[in-house]
Amino acid sequence: MEGLAGAVPGGKEAGLTAADLPRGSAPRPVPTPHFPDRLHAFVWRNWQLVPARRMGEVVGASAGDMVRLGRSMGLAGPPRVTIEQQRRSAITIIRRNWHLLSYAQLLQLLVWTAEQMAYSLREEDFLFVKLGNLKPQCEPLVYRPPDAPARERAREIASVLRAEFPRGVGVPEQPLFDFVRQLSRPPEDAGVQRGGTSAFSPRYCYSYFALYGDPLLDPTLDPFPDGYLARLAASGVDGVWLQAVLTRLAPFPWDARQSERFDARLKNLGLLVERARRHGVGVYLYLNEPRSCPVGFFATRTSLKGVAEGDFAALCTSVPEVREYLASAVESICRAVPGLAGFFTITGSENLSNCWSHGNGKGCPRCGKRAPADVISELNTTFYEGIRRAGNGQKLIAWDWGWQDDWAEKIIAQLPRGVSFMSVSEWGMPIKRGGVATAIGEYSISTVGPGERARRRWEQARDRGLRTIAKVQCGNTWELSAVPYIPAVANVARHAANLRGLGVSGLMLGWTLGGYPSPNLEVVAELGSAPAQGGGAEPQTAMLRVAERRFGKALAPKVVEAWREYSEAFSEFPFNGSVVYNAPMQVGPANPLWGEPTGYGASMVGFPYDDLEAWRAVYRQRCSLASSRKWRRDLSTRTRSWRLRSKAAAAN
Ligand SMILES: [Zn+2]
Repeated sequence: MEGLAGAVPGGKEAGLTAADLPRGSAPRPVPTPHFPDRLHAFVWRNWQLVPARRMGEVVGASAGDMVRLGRSMGLAGPPRVTIEQQRRSAITIIRRNWHLLSYAQLLQLLVWTAEQMAYSLREEDFLFVKLGNLKPQCEPLVYRPPDAPARERAREIASVLRAEFPRGVGVPEQPLFDFVRQLSRPPEDAGVQRGGTSAFSPRYCYSYFALYGDPLLDPTLDPFPDGYLARLAASGVDGVWLQAVLTRLAPFPWDARQSERFDARLKNLGLLVERARRHGVGVYLYLNEPRSCPVGFFATRTSLKGVAEGDFAALCTSVPEVREYLASAVESICRAVPGLAGFFTITGSENLSNCWSHGNGKGCPRCGKRAPADVISELNTTFYEGIRRAGNGQKLIAWDWGWQDDWAEKIIAQLPRGVSFMSVSEWGMPIKRGGVATAIGEYSISTVGPGERARRRWEQARDRGLRTIAKVQCGNTWELSAVPYIPAVANVARHAANLRGLGVSGLMLGWTLGGYPSPNLEVVAELGSAPAQGGGAEPQTAMLRVAERRFGKALAPKVVEAWREYSEAFSEFPFNGSVVYNAPMQVGPANPLWGEPTGYGASMVGFPYDDLEAWRAVYRQRCSLASSRKWRRDLSTRTRSWRLRSKAAAAN
């Protein structure tokens, strides 16, 4: 699972240069022999993302030189590239140029400082990890007019493009990120009936197009424009979440500079909460706290120092002063934004937070002597205490993500009664795919949960009187994140029906892949709605209702049939944690076919390279191929037959 991060207390890095950025083993970059040379690859890969003038500045050429080079390969355009598009595609620009440019030239291309790059690599969802924990050693790229062999190869590429793409390549049919504009427009119809009671509340998700940074200070980063909130509400969503960093939202008692403008952020959070409320949507904050501080911070504050990792150390939550800071920070947020719906916590993973958060609590003189379960339940109790003091009724959802198996029972036993307990629904479910027995981690729509682990933990929580919440993936997952939603609607419907049957009272609809207003979300809402509103339905009925709303009465039965068949085929997905993180599903044909071994290992949802061993993981080569062939054949046959049948139905 990827993390979310924000400002690190004391993490200011003034005066950084490109030379200070992380390099890892700095191996040789992968070659690009299918291009005439590196310069052509550079122009090709940035054609739609970076204005030609900027590309030229990076390599010492004019915009005209860049445009000529691109067109010599048959590219049309270049398209106009807006500032907004450049900002949204920054990570794509980094990835496409990772093997082409040095840091110095990459910074020029992005118009970034080294500080911005350092921050991004560390904080934007552990980006450097996803890039492989290394920066290939790239020589400076300098423009030279192409020589005869390069011109000849460019002509060959152009003729391939003409033959394969008669309508031209180079200018996208829709402007990049046009979906952000589309989703931000108010919806035309009302969608799901709102206002009724539901078996599932909250039903909350993340933004489909959030950017990292400081969205509560920078209004251009708004992850939840009004039109999008209305669309989510119409899809049956009643909550959204965004990351919170306490130092940015409340005074940091040991260094007030960390909290500059916290009050402005709280004011904007209040405005977001108010806007969301008008759509019947609550706002939740994700806490992964306390964030660790640079080791230097503790030089004069040794009594606060817990477990150290590299240049950072934990603010030890066994120290009463630290807990008081956390409780009062949460309290002040709840007071300043009384309409805030609540918080959810990750306390056993992601950033280094409490001393046991990465399992190494023994390194702390205080927490090392305590059971991890005591430290973690105490931390959740501390957050809850802050909420309680403010008295505005915010919810606290304690998520078991990252809790070790032998901690969980003891943590749940010590959570305050007002806390809701959330567990990953499908975790640990045994599966057999392509003849191989393995187990689900999370992020699966191919598997219909819940699994035994979640059932056991919910039961324990319920016995103590806690509300229970399931973390599921309703729209898409790392099984295939490159589409807005996976139309395995029947699987999602069955999963929701199972959870309703178990009495699970709320749903986190997905992690950072975000919530696209999809039939999947609508079906989940249908399954939650009360019998009085025609709810309490079985999956088939719920799907029919959604299909009728979206496609009309005549087509609805065919659509439901397609969803069912698609779900059946998708259930053959060769799931394994290593497969979903390493294999090329997320990038598809953008991962080249390599002529020679690259020597690189696949990186987590970053570069798949040619690391077949990591892609296939537990699946034997032959069965993996056979299984995926069967899977593709199933999907394409079913899609084709569905198209024919729906055409027939439409004609009728
Ligand atoms: Zn500690």
